[in-house]
Amino acid sequence: MPTDLTFIFWIILGVVLAATAVGIVVALRERRQLPPVVPTPEVEAPEAEPETRPAPPTVEAPTEEAPPVEAPTAATSAPELETIEAPTSRLARLRRRLATSNNALARGLADLLSRDRIDDETWDDFEMTLISSDLGVGPTTELTTHLRQAMAIDGVADPAQAKATLRRELVRLVDPTLDRTLHVEGADGNPGVVMVVGVNGTGKTTTVGKLARVLVAEQKTVLLGAADTFRAAAAEQLTTWGERVGVETVRGPEGADPASVAFDAVAQGVNAGVDTVIVDTAGRLHTKTGLMDELGKVKRVIEKKAPVTEVLLVLDATTGQNGLVQARIFAEVVDVTGIVLTKLDGSAKGGIVVQVQRELKVPVKLIGLGEGADDLAPFEAEGFVAGLLGE
Ligand code: GDP
Ligand code: GDP
Ligand code: MG
Repeated sequence: MPTDLTFIFWIILGVVLAATAVGIVVALRERRQLPPVVPTPEVEAPEAEPETRPAPPTVEAPTEEAPPVEAPTAATSAPELETIEAPTSRLARLRRRLATSNNALARGLADLLSRDRIDDETWDDFEMTLISSDLGVGPTTELTTHLRQAMAIDGVADPAQAKATLRRELVRLVDPTLDRTLHVEGADGNPGVVMVVGVNGTGKTTTVGKLARVLVAEQKTVLLGAADTFRAAAAEQLTTWGERVGVETVRGPEGADPASVAFDAVAQGVNAGVDTVIVDTAGRLHTKTGLMDELGKVKRVIEKKAPVTEVLLVLDATTGQNGLVQARIFAEVVDVTGIVLTKLDGSAKGGIVVQVQRELKVPVKLIGLGEGADDLAPFEAEGFVAGLLGE
């Protein structure tokens, strides 16, 4: 019996050992197959991310570099070109508009002369009329003193003579001797470069557009630079003005360095050999020193390429005394060579011309008399005074 049991024991042991051995071999074989399966997702996962990560740098790169120029935009859409009004006919038309909004002076004078006896109080009223036209206290006193003298000498209140005296005094204050030439032509093969500056909403972009039309009408070739990169709509607004008269606009991406866009515009103007490049800038409050410094930089950077021949400061005639404060500060940062007085159509403050010229020692060269495309006129003392007197 014990031998039988021993025999069975050995058989069972043999079977168990054999089964174990087979189990081990199978297990080993399975384990050898697993590794390739498990690590695969671990390896692929990190590969997927680097593919998305390098993307942002390639997107950011263009904004850091010089802005790409989009000049060909004008060529793709070819709208019908507009006819531009001749400067001579527009002067006559706009003088009437000036007269309508500035008839206080004419009425003041008529009132003065209608009195039987001109006493001090009447003169005070007349002075108030002049001051409220933004002529300024100094020029007003000068004018009334001269007018009183003239009327005392002649011993008259002859309306025609009084008006002639008033006209003569106003013309003297507005100063017909100032050189109001717009320097739109360059020298040494360079284009003329006109930079347009001012606070927000004074009419800079509109003035650039209107001026481009005047130059095109004079058979000049013009290129616009949209250095107002602060608002995307600003470059669009300028481009539209240009397209109407077949003028191209150089622009950069929104938020680009305005100096770099201005530089590109002038560089393109030089290469294309245009007569004039007009650079529109973003409106900025004269009180923000950082933005005023930026304006100085725009001018310096342009001048690495070509001299700026004209810096036009655009002032809104309806803002009165604040315009003078702006003028003073802008003149410190960029060398202002001419004033554009806009919105004279809606303002009875034409007298500001005298104050701003005295303050800056810079002539008013252009006046804006409406929102229409041809509502910009060269400034001229006699015509302006006639407008002020409602003639
Ligand atoms: P910017 O911000 O200085 O560029 O000003 P815009 O050129 O965009 O003009 C601001 C607003 O003033 C627009 O609605 C223009 O139509 C208007 N504007 C510009 N010049 C004149 C003007 O001489 N007379 C009138 N009535 N409006 C003007
Ligand atoms: P607010 O008076 O605080 O409303 O200022 P703004 O609306 O004039 O400007 C808002 C921000 O944009 C300020 O941080 C200004 O420095 C900046 N900014 C405004 N205008 C310009 C511009 O023409 N150029 C640049 N580079 N920045 C501007
Ligand atoms: Mg603008």
